[in-house]
Amino acid sequence: MVAGGAFFGNAATTVAGFWSGAAVGAASGFAGGFTGAALNTLANGGNIGDVLTAGFRAGVQGAFIGGAVGGIAGGIKASKNNADFWSGKKPTVQNIKAKAGALSPMETDLSAGGELVERVETVEKPAWPTKHRKVTSDYNPNRVHPVSGKPRPHTGTDFRSYKGDPNYSLYKGRVTKVYTGGSGSGGNYIKIEFNNGLEGSYFHTRPSLSVGDLVSRGQIVGVSDGSGIITAPHLHLSIKIDCNDYINPMDLFN
Ligand SMILES: [Zn+2]
Repeated sequence: MVAGGAFFGNAATTVAGFWSGAAVGAASGFAGGFTGAALNTLANGGNIGDVLTAGFRAGVQGAFIGGAVGGIAGGIKASKNNADFWSGKKPTVQNIKAKAGALSPMETDLSAGGELVERVETVEKPAWPTKHRKVTSDYNPNRVHPVSGKPRPHTGTDFRSYKGDPNYSLYKGRVTKVYTGGSGSGGNYIKIEFNNGLEGSYFHTRPSLSVGDLVSRGQIVGVSDGSGIITAPHLHLSIKIDCNDYINPMDLFN
């Protein structure tokens, strides 16, 4: 559970960089090899068939070499760019939940083992996600439905956000998902992978951005649209750590 999205993203980015570098290198290797060999054969009095054959053979060789060189260079560059992007301090379950005194038994075991204790870091203070500074419903993993009596956890914090109000990115990040189908209890939503490895989901919000877009801290990510099952328009913001565990978003602001 200590592996963050940033690490998965890093490997994928390096591989993607390799192939895009390889494609560019192969193309320029082929062009260079073809032109060089064709001109050489032509200068030595070869007929057009010889010129093309020699050009093609050298072109393929050039493509292989150019592809490999370009691929490695592309992979290194993409990996470095990605590392620069993921420069935000990565919060841990330990330092966030310890504040709220809410470590789960498994996390307490991990802490006792020393794994998480070593990784305590300071979390950069996030931008406030809404225009109004009011929380209308708290995160509550133990909430029970008032009528059925069955567990119905509230896995995020509700912030006052009237229809048409902008909602803002907590940190620098990258858009990983947008949904505009309108159905479902959360309505429309946008997900941002922040550069500290946390993931934020903004529900009842019409996305203003597309998947892959980079966002800065405090940038508008969407507009409250009253979609989903709600009693009044608001922003439901949920935050996940290490790709799977919900945390109390308010712990980031305290
Ligand atoms: Zn909510």
